[in-house]
This record gives sequence, structure tokens and C-alpha cells, in this order.
Amino acid sequence: MSSDLRDLYQQVIVDHSRKPRNYHSLQDATRKVEGYNPLCGDRITIYLKLEGDVVRDISFEGAGCAISTASASLLTESLKGKTLADAEALFESFHALVTGLEPVHEAPKLGKLEAFSGVCDYPTRVKCATLAWHTLRAALGNETDKVSTE
Ligand code: ZN
Repeated sequence: MSSDLRDLYQQVIVDHSRKPRNYHSLQDATRKVEGYNPLCGDRITIYLKLEGDVVRDISFEGAGCAISTASASLLTESLKGKTLADAEALFESFHALVTGLEPVHEAPKLGKLEAFSGVCDYPTRVKCATLAWHTLRAALGNETDKVSTE
């Protein structure tokens, strides 16, 4: 990776951790799930408003490190208006990106989420980057209202 690209990715993460997007609760959320990463102490709550199989609105609140906050912020930006199938495909692509694996299926474009591509070099940070995504998945699957990465 060129150092210019690395700088750009760094800027995206710093920007989203300092000014997280969609950082608020959602009064009419249809799902609310809390995620916890005990390894780092990151806590986030994801609010989701589903209409049929479309993510009408999504937001989050929480306290965590820069990586987990930026990841949640970019997740909410990426998922608004997406279908459940789109969300699942994005989850797979993102997970593959940060764990350094090839995606199983044809990968959708990750766009700004590619800023996390450097995370696969830091195994302890992978859980920070994926916390919001595991929490989202629980919200979509209607399984549980608490998620822990351990
Ligand atoms: Zn963290």
C-alpha cells in the first residue's frame, strides 16, 4: 500500500472517530442491540429501524477507542437504505478485509470502509473494528439484545 493511501485511510478513521456520524439514539427504532468488546473495553449500542427488509434508519451511541467508534460511524453511513441482503454481503466483505481473508462471495464495493484495510496487521484491533458489525448482525437477525466479542 502506498503511504499516500495509508495517510488517506488514517484521515478517514480519525475524522469519523472525532466526529462520528449518526451518533444519537433512535426514538422509533425497531431493534436496539448492545455490543461489548472486553478486550479493549469498547461499548456500543446500535439502533435500527427496519421497514420490510430495508434499513430505513440506523444510528449508534457508545464509548470506545477510535477504531471502534470510526467503524460504527462508517457502518451507519454505509447501511442506510440498504436491504438485509446488502447488509449481509457488506458484513462479509468487511470481515474479510479486516481479517485479511479473501471474501467468500463476490465482494460488494466497500468504499470508505476500505480505510480499515490496515487493521488486519493488528490482530488485537480486529475486534474493535468488527464490534459494530457483529452488533448489527445480531440486530438484523433478531437473535439477542447483547453481543460480546468474547
Ligand atoms: Zn477498541
